Amino acid sequence: MAAVTAPTRAVRTKSEAAPVVDDRTILDARSLARTVDAIDEAVFFNRPICSAERLRAARWIVERRGLDGAYAGMFAPTPTDVRDGFSLFTGERLPDGAAMRHILGEEATRALRLLDVRDRAVGEALALANAGATQAIRRGIAHFGDRKPPGRFCCTKCSVAVWRHMTAGGLADLDPRTFIANGLKPLKSARLGDGRWQTFPFWYTVLTLLEINTPAAHDELRYAVSVWKRHLPPPASTATRHAERRAAIATRTAEALA
Ligand SMILES: [Zn+2]
Repeated sequence: MAAVTAPTRAVRTKSEAAPVVDDRTILDARSLARTVDAIDEAVFFNRPICSAERLRAARWIVERRGLDGAYAGMFAPTPTDVRDGFSLFTGERLPDGAAMRHILGEEATRALRLLDVRDRAVGEALALANAGATQAIRRGIAHFGDRKPPGRFCCTKCSVAVWRHMTAGGLADLDPRTFIANGLKPLKSARLGDGRWQTFPFWYTVLTLLEINTPAAHDELRYAVSVWKRHLPPPASTATRHAERRAAIATRTAEALA
């Protein structure tokens, strides 16, 4: 399995020759969702974040571990997140609820990993969050047994969040390669015939398939071509950030399948 599509080099600035003068702010202390989104955007578009800001954001995320509303010992949404809800990186909205708290937890743990901060408190919190998610997924598998296909956790949205977290190096004790390979089978069974999948959030799924980058993932991306190819022309400068991201995902998908 390949690493995340956007090289993590984006946030590893120490070894680069040129000094990073970027003063981008990624921490929004009112919202875990917005902070995670800013980290994801920097990584996805390969925009460096200076080490001081990475550390500041990482330490703030770490303080939210296990707080009220945190899923399985991961990182808790803020009151603003609960009030406003949460949008996936690709724009699909998640209302407040268990799926939102789980997916924000997976995404925050993933983002913290990608920040690549060398700090003891951050390392410990990341390990605990990773262990909490691993245990929750194991319990889910044990609870549902044969009633749920392997490679799935909770609903389709939560399953894609788990695959995406795994592809970035998280949840390593769950045998990610096998877990994802198994999960792509029910995804294939969920094809609607028009390039979409039943209940799977389209763009979040396409982004994750691009990151998974296996022959089976490419098969699903080929199936979905009629939908994502409509987003191939570069968006106008007035496009929303989600439209800009979807266009970039479509372009990278076309390149991956070429
Ligand atoms: Zn769910």
